[in-house]
Amino acid sequence: MAKVIVLMGAPGAGKGTQAQLISRRFGWPQISTGDILREMAEQDTPLGRHIKGVLASGRLVSDEILADIIQERTQRDDCRGGYILDGFPRTIHQAELLDRLVRERGHELVVINIAVARQALVARLAARRICPRCGAVYNMHSRPPREDELCDRCGTPLRRRADDHPDAIQKRLEVYQKETAPVIEYYRQQKKVAEIDGGRSMDEVFEDLVRVIEEKNGR
Ligand SMILES: [Zn+2]
Repeated sequence: MAKVIVLMGAPGAGKGTQAQLISRRFGWPQISTGDILREMAEQDTPLGRHIKGVLASGRLVSDEILADIIQERTQRDDCRGGYILDGFPRTIHQAELLDRLVRERGHELVVINIAVARQALVARLAARRICPRCGAVYNMHSRPPREDELCDRCGTPLRRRADDHPDAIQKRLEVYQKETAPVIEYYRQQKKVAEIDGGRSMDEVFEDLVRVIEEKNGR
């Protein structure tokens, strides 16, 4: 039975890294609605032109179109064993559409929340550095450069991204909280959320994720 993985977690919770690790371990693709929309907007089809117009105007693509896109994308062979959703569902309506899709296909939804205390999130995000020349990403706690604040690859002094400054971090966390709280609540009410303590090392968190995903195997 194919598994549909929905990872939730605030900025700095390590969701992106863990999604990549899951993808590698299980051989399941990461389906990013943002990437698909950008791809489709390049196609000269009625839907492609519609999406291009919506994206250009800064409006949001409708939930129905997003659900159709996911329905179409996940029919491909590479999704047969499972897939990881990225950027979907963001609203309760989207979550309901996903429920329907999962039910119709006889797939299994696995919702995992990577929980990290707010203080730790702020510290992690504030410790992030990027190389302005080559784009390499570091973290002064978990992945420091060999030499103090200099890029390992090109020796350039590292910088913080604009949105990794304290005020911007608080703002991002608030936006996340406000946007996703209803979706997490929706899944919690159905007792579908596996909570994982994301305050530990990347490897420990990944072990837990694998256990949760495998536990659901063959149920
Ligand atoms: Zn560099």
